[in-house]
Amino acid sequence: MRILVINAGSSSLKLAVLDPTSGARAADVRIERVGTPEASLQAGEHRAPCACADHREALLAAMAHLGDPTAIDAVVHRVVHGGDAFNRPVRVTEEVITKIEALIPLAPLHNPANVAGIRAAQAALPNALHLAVFDTAFHATLPRRAKTYAVAPELRERIGLQRYGFHGPSHAYVAGAVAEAMETPLRDLRVITCHLGNGASVCAVEYGRSVETSMGFTPLEGLVMGTRSGDLDPGALIALLRDGMSVDALDDALQRRSGLAGLSGVGNDMRDIEERAAEGDDASRLALHVFAHRVRKYVGAYAAVMGGVDAIAFAGGIGQNSSLIRHRVCQRLDFLGARLSEDLNRDARATAATPVLPIDERSSRVRLFAVHTDEEWQMARHAADLLSDRDAVDHALTIPVAVSARHVHLRQETVEALFGPGATLTVDRPLTQPGQFAAVERVDLIGPKRTIEGVRVLGPVRGADQVEVSATDEFTLGIDAPVRASGHTQNSPGITLRGPAGTVTLKEGVICAWRHIHMTPEDAERFGVQDKDVVDVGLETDGRTLIFGDVLVRVKASYALEMHIDTDEANAAGIGRGGTGVLVGDAGTAQLERRRTR
Ligand code: ADP
Repeated sequence: MRILVINAGSSSLKLAVLDPTSGARAADVRIERVGTPEASLQAGEHRAPCACADHREALLAAMAHLGDPTAIDAVVHRVVHGGDAFNRPVRVTEEVITKIEALIPLAPLHNPANVAGIRAAQAALPNALHLAVFDTAFHATLPRRAKTYAVAPELRERIGLQRYGFHGPSHAYVAGAVAEAMETPLRDLRVITCHLGNGASVCAVEYGRSVETSMGFTPLEGLVMGTRSGDLDPGALIALLRDGMSVDALDDALQRRSGLAGLSGVGNDMRDIEERAAEGDDASRLALHVFAHRVRKYVGAYAAVMGGVDAIAFAGGIGQNSSLIRHRVCQRLDFLGARLSEDLNRDARATAATPVLPIDERSSRVRLFAVHTDEEWQMARHAADLLSDRDAVDHALTIPVAVSARHVHLRQETVEALFGPGATLTVDRPLTQPGQFAAVERVDLIGPKRTIEGVRVLGPVRGADQVEVSATDEFTLGIDAPVRASGHTQNSPGITLRGPAGTVTLKEGVICAWRHIHMTPEDAERFGVQDKDVVDVGLETDGRTLIFGDVLVRVKASYALEMHIDTDEANAAGIGRGGTGVLVGDAGTAQLERRRTR
């Protein structure tokens, strides 16, 4: 499989063609200063000026170095801000682009460039499958206490103010690489990953999940960066605005003229700053101190957040190369049990060829590493996962899911007792199952604790009265109903029904419906199941994917294919009208195999 990964910055375009399984790269192209007369292209050893006015022209120039475009299985785009809308990779559609654009206020430097990259690539590779991977997605697992800013509610609501976190692909890659080097599953490790590049952030990866990270609502929070300030007292912003500074000037100062550049006065390149500091330049020395102090502060905090730490990794241009910064950050971490090996650290330069280098003493309880991050590979792997999921979904037969609200089935005798002599059920609307209908008639359920009013009667009339409620309704009514298949009401609790013409007390008949799938014998054949089989069904919903076990299969020629779940189950899965499910587990695997080999 060959995946083209595109990382479009405001004035740069990075492209890589790689195999998500082996990580082998077929091409690596970088175009800098897009839109300026100094634009240049680098592909491997080849470096040349490159006349390109915008991302589209830059991409066309890069195409010549990417090999056969028809051999590309998918194009993956890095998108910085996915907000609440995206917590995993998605296929790019116009709707997705619109949502990414709607998030521009949250990432004004990045998201417009990402969209420009997507548009350019769609024009250049119209037949390819385009996917988007989000920097924020890895941090969707942040617990609420880490996501929430303690501000007045109107501020939170006004712009969706909360912490998102960035650099997801890098933190995910680095944590995985550390686990591999330690030959320990990531789910058994607490890792602090420090991505120290031009942009910089720290992440607490607790048993594989991001639980804290230093960037917040925007990529401005947290560490000292190349040109960004990182943490700042919000009171200072108010003071500067009060002092007459314009919003744009403040933005420019904090985003582009602060951080290492602002402190050192020699620019944002750590190599220059280290050199000047060694020569005795005070501003550069201060820049190093502030930078390393801030990283150490976060490392300590994140060890406390996770109640301990098993490994700390340094990545990004600074983290993978700068022995000085790693030395300074680790200087006072012995109390955590982290002991840097000065010998190993001095010469450690993590590269693509040697991506993970240990830099700790043998006696160190916490493992320390320099890591060459590979965001492109991480993104390509996400894409490959998405493609195989899609493959599975494309091959799986889907089952429409219907949510049954509480309802009752009645005998003709009961209908007359409740609605008057000679009364019959009136059709309000037909249901999916042929011949079944929701009736106009409604009844009240009077339980020992409370009454639920206006419950639908479903028709036509049956040979036995039956009341189907959810587990939540059971609490409301004060009734303990068993989970049963429809029609199996023996020894179930009774209830009092109230209609306009009278009340009827049932001796039994209240059940919590066993979730089930109606299907025809032909459907059963296609799904490879039989009547009364019990299967697992996965419901694919936005962010609340849920697998239901113990789903009863009911086969009858008069049925229509449909899974029935109650309102509690639907709420748990976040599923509404028009939802679908697929067989998973053994039945699902068997079904996929049959379909694939056909
Ligand atoms: P970006 O976030 O733009 O991808 P990088 O991860 O490439 O940034 O990191 C850029 C930073 O790494 C720069 O500050 C650069 O000076 C620093 N860097 C690169 N090589 C070294 C080195 N040998 N020693 C110290 N810093 C280095």
